[in-house]
Amino acid sequence: MKARERGTLFVLSGPSGVGKGTLRARALKDIEGLTYSVSCTTRPPRPGDREGVDYRFVSEDEFSRMVEQGRFLEYAKVHGGPRYGTLREDVERELDVGRDVLLEIDVQGALQVRSLVPDAVTIFVLPPSEEELERRLRGRRTETETELRARLESARRELEEAPKYDYVLVNDDLDEASAALRKMVMDSREGRLRR
Ligand code: 5GP
Repeated sequence: MKARERGTLFVLSGPSGVGKGTLRARALKDIEGLTYSVSCTTRPPRPGDREGVDYRFVSEDEFSRMVEQGRFLEYAKVHGGPRYGTLREDVERELDVGRDVLLEIDVQGALQVRSLVPDAVTIFVLPPSEEELERRLRGRRTETETELRARLESARRELEEAPKYDYVLVNDDLDEASAALRKMVMDSREGRLRR
């Protein structure tokens, strides 16, 4: 019997407040055969966060140990605070059985994946404008004014990385952006079938 085709790794990234989380949730609901890799983080859980579903919450010491053991495909300190990382074993297990895997990670992490996994499909989510990004960040009310300024500043820097990605997706209308993301996954699957 022919060995099962390996899955594809999709990386959804972009600045904070651009709507990556919402797009990710929609993609997982709408696209059959796509699995999400739950990240590890050293940030404390927020109300409503579920251990092992939204994140695996670990201490700084545990995270450092996992780094030393080489268990992360990528990891990064996000917004100068907590660390976040993708477990290599989770991604490999799913890809090996032929399932496509979606990561939703920050720009530093996405660039690491891009150099480590050349056939990963990288997608940069863009806000319709800088003003709209600021409006969305303010609307979330999860950051202080100082944090908000810092996020907008990193967003400006991160936007310059967009040309390094395979696709750029403007998240203006959620339905349209979700449909475009779905098409990227479907096109990539077709390309794989044609190979
Ligand atoms: P939050 O703490 O608000 O859930 O996420 C903060 C940021 O961390 C988001 O931009 C999210 O995409 C990013 N992030 C989540 N998981 C990972 C990960 O495993 N690696 C990296 N590099 N970033 C992550």
